[in-house]
Amino acid sequence: GCFTYAIMVILKQKKISEIKNDFINNMTHEFKTPIATVSLATEALQDDDIKGNKIIMDRYVQVIRDENKRLGMQVEKVLQIASLDKKDFILKFEKADVHDIIQKALVNITIMVGQRGGVISSQLLASNPEIEADKVHLTNIIYNLLDNANKYSPDAPEIHIRTESISTGVIIKITDKGIGMSKEATQKIFDKFYRVSTGNVHDIKGFGLGLSYVKNIVDMHQGSVSVKSELGKGSTFKVFLPFTHG
Ligand code: ADP
Repeated sequence: GCFTYAIMVILKQKKISEIKNDFINNMTHEFKTPIATVSLATEALQDDDIKGNKIIMDRYVQVIRDENKRLGMQVEKVLQIASLDKKDFILKFEKADVHDIIQKALVNITIMVGQRGGVISSQLLASNPEIEADKVHLTNIIYNLLDNANKYSPDAPEIHIRTESISTGVIIKITDKGIGMSKEATQKIFDKFYRVSTGNVHDIKGFGLGLSYVKNIVDMHQGSVSVKSELGKGSTFKVFLPFTHG
C-alpha cells in the first residue's frame, strides 16, 4: 500500500538522480575535456618559444581542429535527442536512396576507423534501395550505429554493413567484432541514458542517447531495430525500414 508506494517513489527518485549524475559526469568529460584542450593548445600557440616552429604549430592547430570536431559531434548528439522531445518535431519524408545515404556516412566513418587501424566493408545488395524517409535523420541513424561499432571495438575494428531487399522494404545490418554485450544489456540499450557499465567505470565515453534516438526515428518510419550480440565476440544491429508508411 502506502508504504510500498513510498519505497517505490524513493527508488524511482534515486534512479533519476543517478541518471542525472551519470549524465553530468559524461557531459563533464565530453564537453569540458575538449574545451580545456583547445584552451591549452591556443595558449601554447602564443608561446614565444613555439612561434616560428611550423611543425609544432601545425600539430597544435590539428589538435584544435580535432577537438573542435569532436565537440561539434557531441553537441549534435545531445541536440538530436533533445529535438525529439519537442512537441512540434516532425520528420520530412521524401524519396531516399538507402545506399546513397550509407555511402555518404561511410566517408567519415572510414577515416575514423582507418585511424584506428581498422576496416569497414560493405555489401549493398538491396535490389530496391529507394524508400520514403527523412534523409537527415536516416543519415544520423546509420552514423550512430557505425560510430558505436567503431567505439565499442578494440583497436583495428572490423565492421561490416550490408543491405538486402525484402518484399516490404529494406534491411540494413551493421556487424562489429567488438566487445559485445550480455543478453540483459541488449534488452536495455535502446532506453534513454542506458549505458552498459564495464565493471564500475565506463571507459568508453558517451551519453547513452544514440540508440534511443535510433529507435525513436526508426519507429517514426514504422520500421524496427534489434540487436544480436555476444560478450567478447561482437554485435549485429538490424534495422528494417518499410518502403512507405502511413
Ligand atoms: P553511448 O554510446 O553514448 O553510450 P548509445 O545509446 O549509442 O549511447 O548506446 C547505449 C549503450 O549500448 C552503450 O553505452 C554501450 O554500452 C552499448 N552499445 C551500443 N552499441 C554497441 C556495440 N556496437 N557493441 C557493444 N555495445 C554497444
